[in-house]
Amino acid sequence: MQNDIQEILISEEEIQGKIKELGEVLSKEFADRNPLVICVLKGAFIFMADLVKNITVPLEMDFMAVSSYGASTKSSGVVKIIKDLDQTVEGRDVLIVEDIIDSGLTLSHLIELLQNRGAKSTTVVTLFDKPSGRSVNLEADYTGFVLPDAFVVGYGLDYAEHYRNLPYIGILKPEIYTS
Ligand code: 5GP
Ligand code: MG
Ligand code: MG
Repeated sequence: MQNDIQEILISEEEIQGKIKELGEVLSKEFADRNPLVICVLKGAFIFMADLVKNITVPLEMDFMAVSSYGASTKSSGVVKIIKDLDQTVEGRDVLIVEDIIDSGLTLSHLIELLQNRGAKSTTVVTLFDKPSGRSVNLEADYTGFVLPDAFVVGYGLDYAEHYRNLPYIGILKPEIYTS
């Protein structure tokens, strides 16, 4: 698995350090608001787990699965709800936890959905951002790392369901996804 990685972009230590910082800021922002923290599956599951351990105020969690990529490396623009939330978002301060924003299509669709359902506020935290891939005008409220326009894997992010378990973020050797 490690042999398929061409270059490590962000190490495990850097990621963990950044998540501590994000946790501190979000603990202040959401003190006394009992936010509903929503993990966008599957990619954000490791970030979610590490992030909530660093948020020191009361919160609730829920999980939602959406799909826009399939086994491809480019967004199709079609967002499907694979698994919906268990809880209602009506009147809630919602914190959306995303792995990475590329085109922004998935997230803009999700924000609209949650606002239509009556969320009191929607805040977005993403661990990674690829601003050069944007096709809609959208920024996260909190961003861990800005990445170049490359397809990355690891730390929850997959290629055809593999590599999610790498503790760092890296770029695949081109022959892996062109063969
Ligand atoms: P967007 O709709 O912003 O184009 O992409 C949304 C989702 O596509 C992300 O939440 C993530 O799951 C997936 N994605 C975007 N860029 C990458 C990438 O570089 N690598 C992987 N593995 N997934 C990505
Ligand atoms: Mg995602
Ligand atoms: Mg994927």
